[in-house]
Amino acid sequence: MIPFDLEYYLPESTEEAAAIFAELSEADKGPLYYGGGTEIVTMCRQQTIKPGALIDLKGIPETTALEVDGDKLIIGANVTLTELNEQDYFPLLAKVARVVADHTVRNSLTLGGNICGKLPYREAILPLLTADADVVLAGREGRRTEPLEDLFDKRLKLEKGEILVQLIVPKEELKRKSWARRREKHGPVDYPLYHMIGVQKKDQLAVAVSGLCAFPFRSAELEKKVNDSALSAQDRVDKAPDLLPGTIRNDEIGSDDYRQALWQRDLAELLKKMGGAE
Ligand SMILES: Cc1cc2nc3c(=O)[nH]c(=O)nc-3n(C[C@H](O)[C@H](O)[C@H](O)COP(=O)(O)OP(=O)(O)OC[C@H]3O[C@@H](n4cnc5c(N)ncnc54)[C@H](O)[C@@H]3O)c2cc1C
Repeated sequence: MIPFDLEYYLPESTEEAAAIFAELSEADKGPLYYGGGTEIVTMCRQQTIKPGALIDLKGIPETTALEVDGDKLIIGANVTLTELNEQDYFPLLAKVARVVADHTVRNSLTLGGNICGKLPYREAILPLLTADADVVLAGREGRRTEPLEDLFDKRLKLEKGEILVQLIVPKEELKRKSWARRREKHGPVDYPLYHMIGVQKKDQLAVAVSGLCAFPFRSAELEKKVNDSALSAQDRVDKAPDLLPGTIRNDEIGSDDYRQALWQRDLAELLKKMGGAE
C-alpha cells in the first residue's frame, strides 16, 4: 500500500505521543501524527511525502471523546466525520460533515485530520469557526487552550510536535439558526466549488467559507460588510468580493469569475433567508 518502510507508534497519552514525536524528530525520522490517514496514505502512495514514522493518535482516549460537559460540547480530534454526521448535539456540524467525501472515506476521516490537513477545503472547520470554538493543544511544553479564531489563519498554527487534542464549543452556539450551501461541479462526492455557511448570532450574521479561496476562512471584514444595515443587501453583496482574505480560486473545478458570480448569488440568498436583507 505504502511503497516504503516506516515505523508505527500507538501512544496512549498526549505526553507519550509528544515524547515519541520529539525523539523521532531528533533521530531525523520525520514523524507525522496520524488521524484517519486518508491524506497521509494518499500522499505516501504518491511519494509527495515520505515520513519515517507515523504516530497514531487514536489510542489517546480524550481524542475520541464526543460529549457535553456542563455548558460545553467536547469533540475529540479523532472523532470521525461519520460520527459527527450521526450526532445530534451540533446539527450544523452534522450537516457539514455529511457532505465531505463519501461514506467510506468519512468512516476514517477525522475532524483533526481535516483541520490540520494540507488540502485547501478543510470543510469541517466551518461550523467551528462560526461557533467561536476553542482548541485544546498538547505538546512537549504541556497543554494550552486557545480560541480557534486566534490560531487559525489559513491553517491551524501548531508548534512543532503539537497535537490538536479537542475542540470545545460553547453550548449556546450549538443550535443557532443556520444556512449552508455547497456548490459542486458534478455531484456531492466532488470537492466543492465552495461551501458557505451562515449562522445567526443575536443580530449579527456569522459567515464562513471553504473552497472560494485557497484556505477556509471566517473574515471579520467580510462579516462587517455583510452586517452593515446602512447598505442595501445588493450593495453588501456587490462589495463582498473586495473583502475576501485571498484571491478567488481559478482551477479545473471552476474559474474565478464563475465561482464569484455563483457565490454572490448565494450570499444574496443567505442575506434574504437569514433576515440580513431589508
Ligand atoms: C476521496 C476523498 C475525498 C475527499 N473530499 C473532501 C472534501 O470534499 N472536502 C474536504 O474538506 N475534505 C475532503 N477529503 C479529506 C481531506 O482531503 C483530507 O484528506 C482529510 O481531511 C484528512 O483527514 P485524516 O483524518 O484522514 O487525516 P490524516 O491523513 O491522518 O492527517 C492529515 C494531516 O493532519 C495531521 N494531523 C492529523 N490529526 C492531527 C492532530 N490531531 N493533531 C495534529 N496534526 C494532525 C497529520 O499529521 C497530517 O499532516 C477527502 C479525502 C478523500 C480521500
